[in-house]
Amino acid sequence: MKLFQKLISWVRGLFAERPRGVEFIEGDELPVHFATRNLYVAREDGELWSAGLNCPCGCGRRLEVMLLDEVKPRWDLSIDNSGLPSLHPSVWIADGCRSHFWLRHGEIHWC
Ligand SMILES: [Zn+2]
Repeated sequence: MKLFQKLISWVRGLFAERPRGVEFIEGDELPVHFATRNLYVAREDGELWSAGLNCPCGCGRRLEVMLLDEVKPRWDLSIDNSGLPSLHPSVWIADGCRSHFWLRHGEIHWC
């Protein structure tokens, strides 16, 4: 039993530490379901519209933030040399699971 629990936490660790990549979607809308834990970014004519991901707490909620200059609130997306995304400012969900986190270099930092 103890070995089994160790195995479970090892597998969890594998998933937790693998950074999230970026998947670009051509167009102004993101898919209704995100198939992976990556950050999805809607891009049309080189302009970034929005970014979305499944809530990292595991509640299954689909999160989406706007990247366009003209809208408020909006977020800044940066992608480092390894292709790992960062979002600024933090993402804060006001209801439900109330997750509050930063996405930095593909990793979730809880607040
Ligand atoms: Zn959540």
